[in-house]
Amino acid sequence: MHINEIFYSLQGEGFLAGLPSVFVRVAGCPLRCRWCDTKYAWDKEAGRQNSTDEIAWTVQQWPCKYVVITGGEPMVDSDLPQLVRELKAAGKHITIETAGIAYIPDMPCDLMSISPKLSNSVPDDAKLAAIHKNSKLDIAVLGELIDNHNYQLKFVVDSVNDLSEIQELLDKIGNIDTEKVMLMPQAATRDELLTKSPMVADLCKQTGFAFSQRIQVLLWNNERGT
Ligand code: SF4
Repeated sequence: MHINEIFYSLQGEGFLAGLPSVFVRVAGCPLRCRWCDTKYAWDKEAGRQNSTDEIAWTVQQWPCKYVVITGGEPMVDSDLPQLVRELKAAGKHITIETAGIAYIPDMPCDLMSISPKLSNSVPDDAKLAAIHKNSKLDIAVLGELIDNHNYQLKFVVDSVNDLSEIQELLDKIGNIDTEKVMLMPQAATRDELLTKSPMVADLCKQTGFAFSQRIQVLLWNNERGT
């Protein structure tokens, strides 16, 4: 697998926010979102080739139960199930963070953390925007992920206008447990996070969706490795 980085920090987002976790960042993502905060992991070449055994060994250097496999987009890597099996055998709790663009059957993870991308993520570059639009949403794939996993759905919110798109998408997917839906502010910096959080908090109060904090932005201003 092409691995961009492995590091120990706190889970910053979602229902497991605050738990000390080892992060495994898989290199490569086709989406190129406008506000992506891990652009350094977009290309496969941004990662070093590692066997699943090597990755599992590195992860176990920290005395930590929680492992977050993130990216990039880990669900497009065919070796991912093998890595998850090895980490499960070592007693780890595995979260996979994905944009929800690919489904792999028999993935024994504990939490599928799905962050479907909205129109606020379309890249500025026209060529990249076309690729992004074609691959950012697959309702059938989202349905498979939700039907077959313990999941959470996290939406990155840039403005109040995003709410109608979120609700339309949830209707299209159907069968969603709304208690598993979270909204989080689009924010690359601590200042941006603090500015946008009240708007997102109001949307949460209005809809009943949960607010997802972003501890890595709040505490460390999104510094790499946090
Ligand atoms: S899907 Fe995630 S990793 Fe890929 S470009 Fe978008 S924000 Fe970045």
